[in-house]
Amino acid sequence: VANETVDVLVVGAGIAGLSAAAALSTDRSVLVVERFGSPATQTTGRSAAQFIVDYGGPTIRPFTAASRTWYLDGGGHARQPLRSLRGMLVVAGDDVDELAGYRAGGLEVLSPAQAGELFPSLRQDRVVAAVHEPQSDDIDVAEAVASFRRALSTAGGIVRCDEQFVSATRDGDAWRAETINGTISAGIIVNAAGAWADEVAVSCRLPPIGLVPMRRTACTFRSLDDSHHASPFLSDAASTWYLKPEAGGFMASPSDETPSAPCDARPEEIDIALTIDRVNEFTTLAVRSITSSWAGLRTFSADRGLVLGPDPLQPSFVWSAGQGGYGIQTAPAASATVAALVRGGLTTELVDAGITLAIASPARFRQV
Ligand SMILES: Cc1cc2nc3c(=O)[nH]c(=O)nc-3n(C[C@H](O)[C@H](O)[C@H](O)COP(=O)(O)OP(=O)(O)OC[C@H]3O[C@@H](n4cnc5c(N)ncnc54)[C@H](O)[C@@H]3O)c2cc1C
Repeated sequence: VANETVDVLVVGAGIAGLSAAAALSTDRSVLVVERFGSPATQTTGRSAAQFIVDYGGPTIRPFTAASRTWYLDGGGHARQPLRSLRGMLVVAGDDVDELAGYRAGGLEVLSPAQAGELFPSLRQDRVVAAVHEPQSDDIDVAEAVASFRRALSTAGGIVRCDEQFVSATRDGDAWRAETINGTISAGIIVNAAGAWADEVAVSCRLPPIGLVPMRRTACTFRSLDDSHHASPFLSDAASTWYLKPEAGGFMASPSDETPSAPCDARPEEIDIALTIDRVNEFTTLAVRSITSSWAGLRTFSADRGLVLGPDPLQPSFVWSAGQGGYGIQTAPAASATVAALVRGGLTTELVDAGITLAIASPARFRQV
């Protein structure tokens, strides 16, 4: 397609790009371009599908809290419930002080026996204490992505796959963007390219923000022990593994964070082996083989906060990046923040939720 014109060109059809596109499409024409053959095949399609209220610290919590209501019904676009309560059990392997942060937040410390009641296959002799966070949810990521797509298409927005963004130059008051298939003229570019976001900035002649993609591995295994349907998400306080009950078995991860170039990530054998070791060390599940494995890139900024809104060096270049390990659970509020900043400033609702420019804006990585 040659010489198309849109108000907003979004690069990347992961949850960051689709949610920002939906939020902007209410009063603008929006086109999302995605390099791969379908949306959400990269990090968004590879998550643990968990909504953890306390995750990520004080710069992430406001986005998570402000996103929880959306996960009831996808802003009216979901066809089934998007979240269901699972709870989370965090165990200390060696020292109860590992749980200090959770205790400070008001959670009661449980004995190994109490933890074992919540997670029957936990090796009680391997842990010294635990805390239970009841508010953590399982989320339906595919339906959340579908909900943002429905919101976007209802407003007339378009997602085009197999359409790789190559570069763009600012020409007067519009971007002239080159894709592998043609040229697109756009008032605004939204950079939601996940692990590739810094590369996209450079291809638009802007300096990188300093994002680091980090590989995280996951696998699933079957279990004959069917006593865990209602068991919580289980993790250790030192973040060296986690385990989530699923239909017919479990999903597990060694919580790895290995820096990587942007790529279609694949799991390493050694990380799978480590996952099995950890699960067998802390539980009696006796895992010997896995049923599937994958890896995804969690992309972090230097302060591990989100990078949302216009770049001060070129305000028509808008970031929706740095989603790290919380991009699914924060997407509703993060995309509302991107849209508000494009329209001129944070809304009262976002400010009341504790969202500030200091925790959102790319300006913190720019000296202007
Ligand atoms: C194992 C694992 C577990 C996780 N668990 C959770 C969890 O429980 N809860 C949670 O909230 N988060 C979790 N996360 C993190 C979450 O998955 C990410 O934060 C989120 O998916 C990031 O979304 P995104 O849209 O920024 O990235 P992506 O989904 O990677 O989307 C970016 C898109 O941009 C496209 N793109 C890049 N360059 C171009 C280009 N030049 N042209 C066109 N398209 C381009 C890519 O192809 C890609 O589709 C987990 C991640 C992993 C790996």
